[in-house]
Amino acid sequence: MSTTSTARASSDPPPTPVTRLDAMTEPSIFTRILRGDIPAEIVGETENAFAIRDIAPQAPVHLLVIPKTEQYRNVVELAAGDPDLLTEVIGLANTVASEHADGDFRLIFNTGAGAGQTVFHVHAHVLAGGLNEKSLGG
Ligand code: 5GP
Repeated sequence: MSTTSTARASSDPPPTPVTRLDAMTEPSIFTRILRGDIPAEIVGETENAFAIRDIAPQAPVHLLVIPKTEQYRNVVELAAGDPDLLTEVIGLANTVASEHADGDFRLIFNTGAGAGQTVFHVHAHVLAGGLNEKSLGG
């Protein structure tokens, strides 16, 4: 008779918590928008990037330009890993700023939680349409 058992020996490491696995594999909110799982107004697209309206606008025109890949968490990683894709993101920002405002715009990449980043799938905020405040901080 076999003595094989599925019981864990007390010396075995504990199993990996499912929540940690989920956190590692769960697509970002922007990937879910790109897939159509979450509704959003897509206002522009290139081969490797897309643009949407921010759900909580902080300027008369507030758009997000996002690489289709979520491989890069922030703009520093993007610049190091794929400078051509960063150039494509900036080009799309320029295009949508011209289409949705007068072409002048402010481009912001929050980088790190301490700078206000909440979605760790790199994205550019395009603020336009009459920016009255003169401060970059706050
Ligand atoms: P961060 O704070 O990471 O720089 O910017 C994330 C941005 O994504 C925020 O401005 C937030 O309003 C926006 N955002 C978060 N969830 C959604 C969503 O489901 N739809 C859209 N359109 N924007 C979102």
